Amino acid sequence: MSVYLDANATEPLRPEARAAALAAMDAVGNPSSVHAAGRAARRILEDAREAIAQKFGARPADTVFTSGGTEADALAIHALGVGRRVIVCATEHDAVRAAAGPGAVVLPVRADGIADLGALEALLTAGPPALVCLMLANNETGTIQPVHQAAGLCRRHGALLFVDAVQAAGRMPVDLGALGADAIALSSHKMGGPQGAGALLLAPAHSALRPLIAGGGQERGRRGGTPPLAAIAGFAAAAQAAGESTLAPLRDAVERAALAAGAIVCGGEAPRLANTTSLALPGVRADAQVIALDLAGVQVSAGAACSSGKVSASHVLAAMGLGPLAGQAIRVSLPWNATAGDGAAFADAYAGMAARMRPALAAAVA
Ligand code: PLP
Repeated sequence: MSVYLDANATEPLRPEARAAALAAMDAVGNPSSVHAAGRAARRILEDAREAIAQKFGARPADTVFTSGGTEADALAIHALGVGRRVIVCATEHDAVRAAAGPGAVVLPVRADGIADLGALEALLTAGPPALVCLMLANNETGTIQPVHQAAGLCRRHGALLFVDAVQAAGRMPVDLGALGADAIALSSHKMGGPQGAGALLLAPAHSALRPLIAGGGQERGRRGGTPPLAAIAGFAAAAQAAGESTLAPLRDAVERAALAAGAIVCGGEAPRLANTTSLALPGVRADAQVIALDLAGVQVSAGAACSSGKVSASHVLAAMGLGPLAGQAIRVSLPWNATAGDGAAFADAYAGMAARMRPALAAAVA
């Protein structure tokens, strides 16, 4: 048995995305070439751009393809942060935190994980013009931030707002204009497209962007490099196929099973993505839980997915004031094709894991 509940690391490929990517692989040309083969490749690229722009409320001309969410985050901060203080919400993804650098000002969150908008207003009032980075939905807890309200504050104080919408897109409505953001970042593989493609969508005022990667003038000079046509075609197909997530009842069933086994739901009081829950098991290390569940055939993660496989306490849960629980929480993120059977398998595996590990803990403490 193998049950995959780590969609926020990567969603399973959607069939529509696979078909579109495979078809695009047969295109021989480079979209920059002027001959017929190049023009055919260019058509695939521009069709994908139009589909993504339309789905997420941007103009095609303001849709810049990147290699994924990390690059879109880095490009946004590199370009929009010029001459500005960068204010980063404490629970942002490491891609944003690293791009903002150690000099960034940290915006605190409340105990439920929601950004403290009073603190944001104070920060915006206090200093020179800022770039504010506030994600739409958190990758570990699913917490949905009040981005629209933050956008109003930013406008009033002459600040720009960058929104990492990587986890939200394809699971809840995301529209650049409706959010009032200056730019949003997207990632193909978080919505059931192939890995290796993403996009930064810009408000019209920021059309001309300082590139992070210069090169052959691709993407209107905003991102050098030959675009990965197959990944981008799959990205567009996935975006079109993805609708608002209907997984909340299954997520709730997962939570009920975990609560019955002694877990705490981290940030459960705030508005959240339908597919995501963060479950702390007091006293049991997150990596031990992940390994035990994996041995039982259920794949989840410990907080954020991490390329090195190292597990450290979650900065997201620490920012919410959860103390030691920040190192004792797993993330369950249901994929778009999750079934009731997956939920039941999780419930069984979790109950077994908790029953084995919590007595061991009690014995160690005694
Ligand atoms: N932003 C968020 C909120 C994420 O969850 C992730 C990936 O986990 C990224 C950015 C990075 O995206 P990518 O894996 O496409 O580089």
